[in-house]
Parts: sequence; C-alpha cells; structure tokens
Amino acid sequence: MKKKLLLALAAVMVTASLTACGSSFTCEMCGEEKTGTSYTFKSTATGEDMTICEDCYKLVNDVMNAVN
Ligand SMILES: [Zn+2]
Repeated sequence: MKKKLLLALAAVMVTASLTACGSSFTCEMCGEEKTGTSYTFKSTATGEDMTICEDCYKLVNDVMNAVN
C-alpha cells in the first residue's frame, strides 16, 4: 500500500513557476499560505494541477529520488 502511494507521487510532473514578488498563494498540499516560489504539481494519475510550496516540492523530490 505504501509503495503504491510512492508510485503515485512519482508519477507526476512538477514545474516551477515564479510568482510575482509579494504575492501569496495557498499550498494545496500542506494548506498553508506561502509567499515566494510556487510549484505546479501535475498528477498524471488524476490529471489535476496542484499549486504547492517549496517545502512540499522538496518533499516530492525526495520521494521521487527514493523511488528512482
Ligand atoms: Zn506546502
């Protein structure tokens, strides 16, 4: 079950998008309001885009590295 989750997370494309200075966004992974760089996290499983913060992006990257 845990492996399945890891594979689901690995099957995504993450693209960084720089937000304008001072603007904020809500991370859809941790739910916190953040400023700075937002990342668009596209799940190939669901086809949905999620906006995530840098912390969550690093977390996703760590999971990808662990799988690969
Ligand atoms: Zn986050």
